[in-house]
Amino acid sequence: MVVLFFLKRKIFRFLTVLGILFCLVGPLFLLFQVRKTQGVLGKLTVVIDPGHGGVDGGTADRQGNLEKAINLKIAQKVGKQLRQTGLKVVLTRNRDTDLAPFLAGRKGRHRRDLMGRINKALRTRCAFLISIHCDYSMDPRKQGAVVFYNYLSESSKEIAGLIQEELNIVQERPGKIAPGKYLIIRQKELTGVLVEVGFLSSQVDAEKLQTDQYREQIAGAISKGILRHCRKSLDVSE
Ligand SMILES: [Zn+2]
Repeated sequence: MVVLFFLKRKIFRFLTVLGILFCLVGPLFLLFQVRKTQGVLGKLTVVIDPGHGGVDGGTADRQGNLEKAINLKIAQKVGKQLRQTGLKVVLTRNRDTDLAPFLAGRKGRHRRDLMGRINKALRTRCAFLISIHCDYSMDPRKQGAVVFYNYLSESSKEIAGLIQEELNIVQERPGKIAPGKYLIIRQKELTGVLVEVGFLSSQVDAEKLQTDQYREQIAGAISKGILRHCRKSLDVSE
C-alpha cells in the first residue's frame, strides 16, 4: 500500500515536471517557428500601389470623397500588416502625390504616372505588385470588391484568386476575379493584380469605405491573400 502511494506520488511529480516543461518549451518552439517563417518571408519584396494621387484624384463618391485618399489609407494598412510578418514592402507612394514629373508641353501625364509606378516596382525586384483602386459604375446597385488579373500570367491569376477568397469572407456579396487590361498589370516582367476595393457609385460601399474599421478589414483580407501566395511559393506551412 505504502509502495503504491510513493509510486503514485512519483508519477504525479513526473507528470507535473513534464507539464511545466511542456508549458515552457511549447511557446519557445512556436516562437522559433514564427521567427523561421518571418526569416523566410523576408526574402520577398512586395510592392503595394495606391492608385492615383496628387493632381489625379481618381473617382469620387456622392459626397466628394476622393478615391486617391481611400486607396492610400488601405495601402498603408496592408503595408503595415505585411511588414509585421517579416515581408519587405515598398509603397509606390506614401503621401498624396502622383509619380509623373511635371514636363512643360508634354502630354500623357497619366501614362507617365503609371510607368513611374511600374519602373519603381521593377527597380525593387519585387515578387509582385498589388495596385489598389476604387471602382465606379453607372449602375448604383453594383457593389463589392473585385480583383483583376493578367490573363497571360498564371501567378497573377493565382494571387487574384487568393485575395478574392479572403475579400469574400469580409464582404456581403461575394465577387469573382476577372481578367483586366490595365497597363500596370499587363507588364511581362512584372506580376501584378489590381484590387478594386468597392464601388464609390454604390452608397453602401462608399459609406463603408469611409470607416476605418472596414478599411482595416479590406486591408486584412488583401494581406492574408498575399501571405497565402507568398507562403505557397516559398513552400512555408501556414
Ligand atoms: Zn482608380
